[in-house]
Formats: sequence, C-alpha cells, structure tokens
Amino acid sequence: MIKKSLETALSAQINKEFFSAYLYLAMSAYFESINLPGHAHWTRLQAHEETAHAMEFFEHVIQRGGNVTLSQIEAPPYQWETPVAVFEHIYQHEIEVTESIGELVDLAIKEKDHATMSFLQKLVDEQVEEEASVNEVLQKLKRVGNDGPGLFMIDQELAKRTLVPTAQ
Ligand code: MG
Repeated sequence: MIKKSLETALSAQINKEFFSAYLYLAMSAYFESINLPGHAHWTRLQAHEETAHAMEFFEHVIQRGGNVTLSQIEAPPYQWETPVAVFEHIYQHEIEVTESIGELVDLAIKEKDHATMSFLQKLVDEQVEEEASVNEVLQKLKRVGNDGPGLFMIDQELAKRTLVPTAQ
C-alpha cells in the first residue's frame, strides 16, 4: 500500500507529465507552422513519450493500491522566436523534470518505499539520456544559426527519429 504523501506527489507528477506532452505538442504545432516537419515530428514523438510517462505513474499508483487525483492541465505557450529558442526551452524544461523526479526519489527514500524507488530509477536513468540528446540538438542548431541549408539538414535528421517503446 502506497503512503498518502507519495500518492499525492505521484498524482501531481501525472499532471506534470501531461503538461510536458502538451508543451511538446505545442512545439510541434509551432514547427509545422514554420515548415520544419522533421522538428515537428521529433517533438510529436516526445509528446507521445510524455503521455506514456504519465500512464506509467498512473499505473504505479493504482498497482500500489493508491488513488489517483487528476487536476487541470496548464495551457502551454504556442509561440517561440526561433528553433534555437524552442530547444533552449526544451533543455530547461528537461532539467526541471530531472529535478522533479529527484524530489520524488528523495520522498520515496524518506518514506522507505522501495517499490517506488525502483519504479523511479528507470526515469532517473532516462533523464540522463534525455538531457544529453536535447543538448546535442540544441548545440547543432546553435552552430547552423540562420543558415537555411544547415537547418534543412538538421530537419531531415530529426525526421528519422523513431518511437522507442517504453519497457514496462
Ligand atoms: Mg516525462
């Protein structure tokens, strides 16, 4: 049986994961509007991943005999200045997600909830890759700057991304 404190914190995390999905979807719409379909595809897959995370938290709370309380999802921004600005936003966002998951780990340790600690470990590991891959795209975008052909090449690269099924 999951403790009330973790039930509340994990329910809040479900909201954060759905917000992340919303944010990436808004970014995808922005990239579509400026004709960067590869970038739009990449952020769309990211939105799928975030939805999958939300569902993993949902399942975990339910499996542990807890109750899930869903709350209102904040509206994401819809406009950015440049592709670089979007990826800077993504990078900052992922750093915040890492911190948020870290706080959940701290709480799970405090409550001696080993099952939740084990569940969170996979997400902790994923965040390391997440930050690295986002930063890689960000650095490439910064390097090409306003160079049209360079941006086109990055767009084609991002178009190749495939959805990696999450291990449950
Ligand atoms: Mg996530």
